[in-house]
Amino acid sequence: MMRQYELVEKVQSYDPDADETLLNRAYVYAMKAHGSQMRASGDPYFSHPLEVAAILTELKLDAATIAVALLHDVVEDTEATHQEIVDLFGAEIGALVDGLTKIKRLDLVTKEAAQAENLRKLLLAISKDIRVLLVKLADRLHNMRTLGAMRDDKRQRIAQETMDIYAPLAGRMGMQQLRDELEDLSFRVLNPEAHAAIMERLDRLHEESGDVLRQIEVALVERLAKSNIVAEVKGREKKPYSIWRKMEKKHLSLGQLSDIFGFRVVVREMDECYRALGIVHQTWRVVPGRFKDYISNPKQNDYRSIHTTVIGPHRMRVELQIRTQLMHEIAERGVAAHSVYKDAKAEEAAQGMRVEAAESNAYRWLRHLVEMLSEGDSPKEFLEHTKLELFHDQVFCFTPKGDLIALPKGATPIDFAYAVHTNVGDSCVGSRVNGRHAPLMTELENGDEVEIIRSKAQVPPSAWEGLAVTGKARAAIRRATRIATRKQYAGLGREILGRQLSKANLEASDKQLIAALPRLGFRNLDDALASIGRGELNGADFVKALGPDGADMPKPKRKSAAKPSTTLDEPLNGGRTIAVRGVNRDLPIRIAESTGAVPGDRIVGILTPGKGITIYPIFSRALQEFDDQPDCWIDLAWDTSDESLRYPARLAVKIHNEVGALAQVTQTIGEHGGNIDHLIMNTRARDFFDLDIVVEVHDLKHLNHIMNSLKLKPLVSTINRATG
Ligand code: MN
Repeated sequence: MMRQYELVEKVQSYDPDADETLLNRAYVYAMKAHGSQMRASGDPYFSHPLEVAAILTELKLDAATIAVALLHDVVEDTEATHQEIVDLFGAEIGALVDGLTKIKRLDLVTKEAAQAENLRKLLLAISKDIRVLLVKLADRLHNMRTLGAMRDDKRQRIAQETMDIYAPLAGRMGMQQLRDELEDLSFRVLNPEAHAAIMERLDRLHEESGDVLRQIEVALVERLAKSNIVAEVKGREKKPYSIWRKMEKKHLSLGQLSDIFGFRVVVREMDECYRALGIVHQTWRVVPGRFKDYISNPKQNDYRSIHTTVIGPHRMRVELQIRTQLMHEIAERGVAAHSVYKDAKAEEAAQGMRVEAAESNAYRWLRHLVEMLSEGDSPKEFLEHTKLELFHDQVFCFTPKGDLIALPKGATPIDFAYAVHTNVGDSCVGSRVNGRHAPLMTELENGDEVEIIRSKAQVPPSAWEGLAVTGKARAAIRRATRIATRKQYAGLGREILGRQLSKANLEASDKQLIAALPRLGFRNLDDALASIGRGELNGADFVKALGPDGADMPKPKRKSAAKPSTTLDEPLNGGRTIAVRGVNRDLPIRIAESTGAVPGDRIVGILTPGKGITIYPIFSRALQEFDDQPDCWIDLAWDTSDESLRYPARLAVKIHNEVGALAQVTQTIGEHGGNIDHLIMNTRARDFFDLDIVVEVHDLKHLNHIMNSLKLKPLVSTINRATG
């Protein structure tokens, strides 16, 4: 295990200004926090963050990143809290550790490629600072190196995830070395036979070719030196996984694979790259179609080199990468190489810029890269080697248990609820976002923790459809409201059918009703009842279908003889015909007692299972209670063809407490053709009486005439329609 002073010295070797105190404090804090925890391998847990930090020192990262590496597991795995980290190490390190804690939670729930994809989306989404990614990659590398102690299924899963997510990501960040190692470690776990076969083949090639690598190196160096180019040439054989990938991609057998050897030619200046290329091409025959100039055309991840393949000494195909030292650094360490450029810092410091600005400037390039990644500028190259997609229009939220839910931007807790499960959505009545009650129309943000408050009695209001952005939520809301409406119609249908049966002096069990369904073309009783409720199926037809001429009809209902079917409780219009359009004639209809309603009033029907339809004038205050149940509302219009009909209107009249006042009111109503259906007198004040009158009139014009006449009476103080 690396010691504290060794770590500090290592960082200071490439960054003399490194904050030594910070490193020491982070080291001691993490060591204490992890205490006696053990890893699966039996090593003390602290060895893990320490090794992660060591990997990052290889990449020459700054002291803050090294400190974060030391602290990266403390919040998730020990008693330490986010607040404590912020208090002790500041907001910057706090935010970085927080980012890692969030990603770590993902590891626990990542099971399949689908979730692996989510993981990558989250990485992009929350990586405001690329250092989170760098630490995560180092973390994964160390976990892959020490995978041996894990259960096999867990190893497979972690290796697959590494192959799918972390290796491509490392590649995308330009960190070739890290990528190679991650791929190779994963390949060993995922395809041990192929790995072993390739290793065996490589061993045999070594025996056959002897020190051919060394010979080619020497030949190259000598040839370049003749032209005054000082070059460092390093031969290397490809890693088993990149050989495997090539075999797969080009459908080659191992024997057919010729360019297993590659050489790196590292020169000092850029123009030397092109001169070296010329010399190589003059000396050996070029393999056509293999030349690529990534210097004038850098790769997306800033990789720059010249690639060419020649038939070299011993007639071996030799792949060459020609680059400068700087290009080499970037090729190997990618974003990490950029992060330690001191010249930009120094330059800005010289210009008198703030130190923090200069500090973060080192990462401008990195942030730009993340931006490009998330904006999907030219993601083709990245996509080549991965099945991952690029998303920038998504938010990533967590359940209280830490499960990740990916949603489109603009999504609300309703979408979240349906994304968790349809049942959760259907029973959702409220939400808490990050522990606080939040309206269901709240737009969710990255990293929000969302808790859904549920109630079994809930039916999602159809108005929610407008609050949801996901197709899943919208479809589910439509479906749930359809079911609820159908239930209501079925309830109504049952009532209508009951009345029809009563009229025919019959009763029928559900069993008998179901038996009649095939004759009506229905399979399901609720469907048939709902159809009656909607007015599509005539209740009388159902009664007929119960049996031809009542042959197999249920027995006549005995008690119904004593109880006529007209006893339905309809206090304001009992027995009266209510002429309205827009509704099934079989429906039990009543006019709201609290207000009454007359032709000329704008009206709506409210459909209530078990009660039928109640007609309210639009001004009725009672309607407010149905505001959030738009499916109960039925558009109705008066049918005024029959002028002999009368309708009730409820009036609130205030009269002076004087002899003859009441007589004046009743007389006026009578004189103008109104029938008083109901009248109650209340005394509220000494000088006035309040009258509650229900008067039957033909229509609104008739009613207004009566009301105006009453207003003219000296003893009538005020007169108004009751609003319920
Ligand atoms: Mn870790």
